[in-house]
Amino acid sequence: MKKIGVLTSGGDAPGMNAAVRAVVRKAIYHGLEVYGITGGYTGLINGNIEKFDLGSVGDIIHRGGTMLLSARCEEFKTKEGQLKAIEQLKKFGIEGLVVIGGDGSFQGANALTKHGFPCVGVPGTIDNDIPGTQFTIGFDTALNTVIDAIDKIRDTAQSHERTFIIEVMGRNAGDIALWSGLAGGAESILIPEDDYDINEIVDRLKNSYKRGKKHSIIVVAEGVASGSEISKQLKDLIGVDTRVSILGHMQRGGSPTVFDRVLASRLGARAVELLMEGKGGRAVGIINNEIVDNEIATILAEKHSVDKNLLVLSKELSI
Ligand code: ADP
Repeated sequence: MKKIGVLTSGGDAPGMNAAVRAVVRKAIYHGLEVYGITGGYTGLINGNIEKFDLGSVGDIIHRGGTMLLSARCEEFKTKEGQLKAIEQLKKFGIEGLVVIGGDGSFQGANALTKHGFPCVGVPGTIDNDIPGTQFTIGFDTALNTVIDAIDKIRDTAQSHERTFIIEVMGRNAGDIALWSGLAGGAESILIPEDDYDINEIVDRLKNSYKRGKKHSIIVVAEGVASGSEISKQLKDLIGVDTRVSILGHMQRGGSPTVFDRVLASRLGARAVELLMEGKGGRAVGIINNEIVDNEIATILAEKHSVDKNLLVLSKELSI
């Protein structure tokens, strides 16, 4: 393989730039030509493809977002769209593609591979919801953004003796809520992977009132309910007035942490190696600090799971 391409797709995540840089630099290091594709699969179909050099990815390792831009592309979900994309790649003589994104983007990479065009997936999403890897690029940075917010909210919660409900992102996964809730000392953490019992939350609140603690933090994953729904339930049940904070898109931005930059560099570089070895249809990941790779199709067939031990631990520590 002499020419490869790289694109970012789906929801952006801090560290995607570091991954793009790793792909480009690793490819050039090994004497390959590398092409940046701007605007995800939409850009690919439209031929927004440009040859990159070492300088093309200079000064991006520390930046959030993605210099290659990202997009959602309905047309790419059709066979016609996918074949158009392959036509464009062939025009430039590109023989392999690195796709940095979430599970939707992996579906696309899998589709291209099935049409005979080798792709490697690099997991980039703040949600940490991709099987085959313990961590996705952007998750750690998002956690650090959330924990910063929780710490600040705790200050005011304590001063005003209030209960705060903090709604965090994660789509259908509870990882952001779970990790940030544990790290932030939340009294309750609600995640989609575990049925919550509002009465248990009420009991926890009552217990802490009893011991004189009048402020609490409840972290709710967006995949469970909105913060205001939980707030209303608590108001109806025990008449407590809570404040709701929805952290929103700030969780997707910001300069990537060291962890995300190193992870992105390792995963991006490994993706290039796989293409050089002629291995398409793979997705890279990290398990126990080892870089691994699996069939994309297998990963797409698996269900993401959270570490329930963390939930148990958080309950034990927030009695
Ligand atoms: P993410 O990659 O963050 O999960 P999306 O689910 O929006 O984000 O997927 C990103 C893009 O991947 C979509 O806009 C679409 O172009 C492509 N994609 C998603 N699902 C499929 C699919 N089943 N087949 C082909 N392409 C897909």
